[in-house]
Amino acid sequence: MQGLMQQRALRISGLLEHAARFHPQVEVVSRTPDGELTRSNWLTVSQRSQRLAAALLRQGMASGARIATLAWNTHRHLELYYAVSGAGAVLHTVNPRLFADQIRYIINHAADDYVFFDLSFAGLVAELAPSLKTVKAYVALCKPEQMPAMDLPAPLLCYEDLVAQDAGDFDWPELAEDSASSLCYTSGTTGNPKGVLYSHRSTVLHSWVVCAADGLALRARDCVLLTVPMFHVNAWGLPYASAMCGAKLVLPGPDLSGKALYQLMRDEGCTFSLGVPTVWMGFLQHVESLPAADKEALKLERIMMGGSAAPRAMIDQFDSLLGVTANQAWGMTETSPVATISTLLPQHEALARDARIDVHARQGRPMYGVDVAIFNDEGQQLPPGDPAPGELRVRGPWVISAYYGQEAGSALDAQGWFSTGDVARIDDEGFVQITDRAKDVIKSGGEWISSIDIENLALAHPAVKEAAVIGVHHERWQERPLLVIVRKPGTEVSGQELLNFMKDRLARWWLPDAVEFVDELPHTATGKLLKTRLREQFKGYRLP
Ligand code: ADP
Repeated sequence: MQGLMQQRALRISGLLEHAARFHPQVEVVSRTPDGELTRSNWLTVSQRSQRLAAALLRQGMASGARIATLAWNTHRHLELYYAVSGAGAVLHTVNPRLFADQIRYIINHAADDYVFFDLSFAGLVAELAPSLKTVKAYVALCKPEQMPAMDLPAPLLCYEDLVAQDAGDFDWPELAEDSASSLCYTSGTTGNPKGVLYSHRSTVLHSWVVCAADGLALRARDCVLLTVPMFHVNAWGLPYASAMCGAKLVLPGPDLSGKALYQLMRDEGCTFSLGVPTVWMGFLQHVESLPAADKEALKLERIMMGGSAAPRAMIDQFDSLLGVTANQAWGMTETSPVATISTLLPQHEALARDARIDVHARQGRPMYGVDVAIFNDEGQQLPPGDPAPGELRVRGPWVISAYYGQEAGSALDAQGWFSTGDVARIDDEGFVQITDRAKDVIKSGGEWISSIDIENLALAHPAVKEAAVIGVHHERWQERPLLVIVRKPGTEVSGQELLNFMKDRLARWWLPDAVEFVDELPHTATGKLLKTRLREQFKGYRLP
């Protein structure tokens, strides 16, 4: 027997329609790359997205066409999120911090029809355009009087001209909910980048997780500072979830310095923000130097970190400096990205402060919809609570099934699990704890050493700004950990002092064999430690 409920498709345009009807005056504030602060609201975002969608369809944008963006977090990028997907095309957010060769590969692989770009990327676009085979037009994200002079092999259009062309009475098409909506490529630290193609349905379901109380707990009375770039896994779903719950959205543009983030947070009354730990490092450094009154001027309540392990010391610092609960989520491009979140369980309510911070320092428990499991080297599933780390696999309706352009080959095993390439264990409370990425694992005498655990401990030392652990060759043990440190400015600490600090809190054989100091560590385009580069840097390193 069939149920008798309405079949209403889950569509991205529906999120915006909801925000425009029920939260029309809630603000969307945006700092454009030229430094201007633009104030909009959900009604205006909706009207301008409709106009843009109508203009693009009139330009000949086909259903399923890929539309690339090289853009910062601004109101125009937000309008593109809704206009392109809502009209039935696919928004392809390209990470402009990748190498030009990778961007060229990605745009050609996706066969993008249009490239929308912020003026700060005009040089990059001019360099790439001759080798972008499928692009029919370029659109500069600016006003007519700001249009750059560029010599391009395809027409150059002005974004604000496009938006001004239509009346805004456009009706969103009734797309099937499983049609493609957006496309993100993995950063390709190993091999070529691979495309992950999201659907309207996966995006709307994922938005509910972002809003859920044990998810990111986003609410109508929140003001979100969107620090995570909109070219990084759909800004972790916040552009959609903010419309779903009608939260105020603050889009910071390119300046993610601690000072700029602090000012926006203070001036706009932000209650929630999220991003990779590297960004928060700069923010905390800035906040640390401020007088108490300036700290009290913030309304910030919660921070969500992800993208790489949230250092325990940082979670602690958010609490001690600002009384802010910092939490962490784990996920990846292939999981939309939010899959696990480290929210508290009833048994954690009564915990003392430090023990509560320990809970948030784990990667978290799966939300309904995402299933997680650990598999050993023989491909056997380990029971929860098994202390042995193994490969983390996931499955669920916002987890990838096949990579874009490789539809014939599933990305899944026979049971429908996606292999994440992360090494983890699941403890007896059901919390996932990531110990490493498979390719970063240190194997010493056949046993795994968690670089994340060692880095976390090193970061608890007051003189340590950044820490990375890599495996280096060892005659007897095959590999041993080397700790590479960036000191905080104006501090002094020796390698031996650091090892002394760590030795009582680590298994003896996990203690790094050596400590090296550097001025800076290499990062990926999304601000994560780039260990492949670090390993090259220390290739042939001779342990003492
Ligand atoms: P890439 O880093 O390859 O650009 P993603 O942004 O998809 O691509 O990164 C996903 C990876 O980031 C995960 O597989 C995991 O290794 C790491 N990661 C994400 N969140 C966390 C976290 N909270 N703790 C530890 N590692 C994390």
